[in-house]
Amino acid sequence: MRMLIMGPPGAGKGTQGAKVAEEFGIPEISTGAIFRSNIANQTELGKIVKAIIDKGELVPDSLTVDLVADRLAQPDTAPGFLLDGFPRTVAQAEALEGILDKLGIKLDACLLLIVDGETLVARMMKRAAIEGRSDDNEETIRRRFEVYSAETEPLLALYRDKGLLVEVDGLGDVPVVHSRIVAALKA
Ligand code: AMP
Repeated sequence: MRMLIMGPPGAGKGTQGAKVAEEFGIPEISTGAIFRSNIANQTELGKIVKAIIDKGELVPDSLTVDLVADRLAQPDTAPGFLLDGFPRTVAQAEALEGILDKLGIKLDACLLLIVDGETLVARMMKRAAIEGRSDDNEETIRRRFEVYSAETEPLLALYRDKGLLVEVDGLGDVPVVHSRIVAALKA
């Protein structure tokens, strides 16, 4: 299974992505998590991206695409992969096509988690309290929604046109949403 998980900030991509990846025995590749680990380890990349992420802006495509290209070349992706948080722009989606073409593989699905706006903000404020993510404050959250609508939402039409979009209601307890996702992907 080679798939993407998409949805607005707070839709549950990380939580559900990890469970789906486990279900299918594939690695979950989260660009956000890779950036956060670089920040925590104070790497060169981490130093560059910290201020960008804290403002809720997107890390430049050039940095993000190279990182994903390297990761998808690792042998553990042979049985498939789940990309969480990538692509986020049209340029990244085009770059992903190129990466996959070179590897001679195609996507099987783009999973979209659907959650209404009020639930999203409530979830993000809760996560801010629990995880202490430095980009989970009100101003940054607002900006991340704007960026999602402007840059990332347009990609959904692209994956819908390719017949890859699988839409799942992301509202409910974690196991309930997980079951819906598995049923939708295996349908
Ligand atoms: P996430 O964990 O997916 O919510 O990502 C957290 C932050 O990391 C985002 O708000 C962006 O600043 C940055 N980021 C993650 N993935 C990407 C991407 N594909 N392109 C650009 N920036 C990204």
